[in-house]
This record gives sequence, structure tokens and C-alpha cells, in this order.
Amino acid sequence: MSTELVTVQQVRANPGLLKLDLYCKGLRMDESCFIEQDGGRKVLRTRAGLGSGLELILPGGLWTNVPVSESFAQRSPYTLYREQGSYRLRHGGTPVTEVQLSPRPGWYDANLANGKPMTRIGTLQGTYLGIYQAKVCEYWTQKPTKMNCKFCSVGLNLGVDDADEKSVEEVMTVIRAARRESGITYVDFNTGHYDGDTYLDILEPYIVRIKKELGLLVGVQTPPHRDLKRYDHLREIGVNRVSFCFEIFDRKLFEEICPGKHAEYGLDFYLEATRYCAALGARGPSHEPWVTNGEIIAGLEPPESSIAAIDWITSVGAIPTVCVFRPLVGTDLEDADPPRTEDLVPVFRRLYEATMEAGLPIGCAPNIHVSLVMLPEECRSLSPRRYPWQRAKLAMMKRVFGHSFSRRLRRMEIENAA
Ligand code: SF4
Repeated sequence: MSTELVTVQQVRANPGLLKLDLYCKGLRMDESCFIEQDGGRKVLRTRAGLGSGLELILPGGLWTNVPVSESFAQRSPYTLYREQGSYRLRHGGTPVTEVQLSPRPGWYDANLANGKPMTRIGTLQGTYLGIYQAKVCEYWTQKPTKMNCKFCSVGLNLGVDDADEKSVEEVMTVIRAARRESGITYVDFNTGHYDGDTYLDILEPYIVRIKKELGLLVGVQTPPHRDLKRYDHLREIGVNRVSFCFEIFDRKLFEEICPGKHAEYGLDFYLEATRYCAALGARGPSHEPWVTNGEIIAGLEPPESSIAAIDWITSVGAIPTVCVFRPLVGTDLEDADPPRTEDLVPVFRRLYEATMEAGLPIGCAPNIHVSLVMLPEECRSLSPRRYPWQRAKLAMMKRVFGHSFSRRLRRMEIENAA
């Protein structure tokens, strides 16, 4: 295989491919860039391993988070530079395209009444608000040996850019600011592992307040609770998304790279939870959409194993979330090579095709642009298949849901203001 199969002409014509290529190669910032002075977002080391980069908007409205801090990014052929007030990408010396800085809202520079910066409570990942809730994942503090996932940086991050204790009032204040100034429609909670399966108990008071006072879409990403009936209750209180990050489908690699998850739950229980929750879609409040995600990291196992994971996830009615492995500074895998774009194209092509073939509701939620992963619908340009009927159906679902959702939000805003 050639070392440079992805060409400048291809990424210029295909923003989906450009987004993928930037995840794999990162970029260098020319000294002409003044990201924060020009209204862009500071690079923040938040979340379990992907949010370490520069938030940009690519042509076609694709939001992304491009690696800039890791050593592989220092060797990237891509450079970001500023010319006459615009930001542009070059590949080698060749101009590729103009890009936009993801806008930094006013609340990013504001503090809570107690002096805590609002960005230590939550940050925008594209256009939604991501909150890493509660204390550090206990795999990081386990004695005598840490059991953290090898790619993860959560134990390095907390207390740096994320606050560890976040009260309901603090979180609600930041969500209101993000709703008001950034127009968010979705809040995503993420936790690590805590002994006693306490993560859903910790999150419930936040979820109830958001649903009651703002009506926003809410998702939770936690380890799989041992009592699967707890997800029936989440469905009832209006949660819209549950996500299970098993990361790796290859059993041996799962055990090696995710020792804590392997010892505590095992891959089979992650799969069982994914299957169980995907079947809950038919129940619950009919006005609340429900999706189940199985999350994997492409680049930590052979592409064919990632493809097998995608096929399994879609076969049970869940939607795959496929991240691109990023060897983050300070993690156990910091010296590993990032994946090659050419190897991942078939994985992301299959992501699009498998979700379309299974008739899954992708791209229907209003105003959700995700910077940390390639969404299935963003991979359309990697596939020669068109799926005209399925696309027409999704476009209609998006219109109908978007309309009723914004009416509901407006009504709640009026009621709460009265
Ligand atoms: S479960 Fe793994 S990926 Fe998640 S926070 Fe803990 S160590 Fe990190």
C-alpha cells in the first residue's frame, strides 16, 4: 500500500475524508494564528481522550477537534495559517481549503459566583455541552495497580481543565448559559467507573432538573449498570441517549487495553447492556427520542475487527459511535502511532452503510454537530451507495422532530419565564 494514498485533491473535494485525515494526522499551527484573539476556542484537555485538540469547522459544516498537541501532529503535513483575517489549511505547501474557528461563546470566559470558571463545569464538543461528572474514574486510583484504559487521559485531566465536584446548581447555571448563548439542544454526561455502580444515582438529579426546567435532550455515557432495569427508569424520566464504550471488539485486545473494564464488567456485559437498551426504544414517553450507542475506537484493533463491531452494534438496533484513536500526551499509549487514514476509510464507509441498511435514525436531532467523532451521516461521502429512500425518510423524520422539539423548548422557556 502506498504511504500517501489520500491526496490533496481528494480531501479538497471531500470534507468527510478531510475530517478523517485530520484526526489521523493532526495539524501544525503557523505563527500567524491567533486562535483566541480571533474568537476561537482554547485547546482544553477534557474528556476521556479525544477533546485535546483545536475546534474547527470544515467545509460542508463539519465540526471537528483536530489534534495539535501530540507529537504526531508536529510531523503533520497539514498547517493552519491565517491570511487576511481568514484561516486556511495547507498540505505541504499546497493550499487545501478555508476553515472556520469554532466560535468561543461569552460564557467560556465567565466564572460562576463562587469564582470557578464555567469551562471547568462543562465544555462544548462541537455544538453540544459535554460534562464529565463527579470524581475521577476509580480505575485510576485502584491499588495496588491502576486499571485505567491505556488510551485514557481522564486521570491526567481532572483538576486541570475539569472540576471534580460539580453541584446541580453549578451545572444548571452553565447549561442555562450554554443554552442562551450557544443555542445548545443536547447535554451529554460522562462518568468513569465507581465502586457500587453509583454513576446513575449521581446523574439522576441533574437529568431530572434539566428535563423539568429546560426540556433539552440528555445523554449518559457510563459503564453498564449491573441492574439493567435501571435503564427502563432512565427511559421513563426522559433520557434520550445511552452510550456504552466498550472501545474494542477483539477480546484479547479489550482485555489488554481496557483491564479495568475487562475485570469489572467484561466485554459480554457491555454487549448485553447495548442490546438491552436498544430494545427500549419502543417504550417510554413517545415525545422523547431514544438511541443507544455502542462506542468503539478505530485504530486500536484491526479494521476488520472494527467493522465486525459496527455490524454487531447495528444488528441489535444500536448506533455505533466510532472514535479515531489519538495517542494522547501522558497516556500509556502516547508513543503509539496514530492510525492511517487509508486503513480507516473502509471502517467509516461501513459505519455509514450499516446504519443506513439497518434503517437507524441518524442525523435527526436538531443542531447537533459533534467535533469528537465522525458521525455516520458525515461518512456518506466515503461510500458509493446512495440509499435514496432511506435518506428521504430521515430528512422527513428530522423535519418533524425538529419542529416539535423547538415548539416544546419555546413553550417551556415561556412557562419558566412567567
Ligand atoms: S473507564 Fe477507562 S476510558 Fe473511561 S474514564 Fe475510566 S479509564 Fe478512562
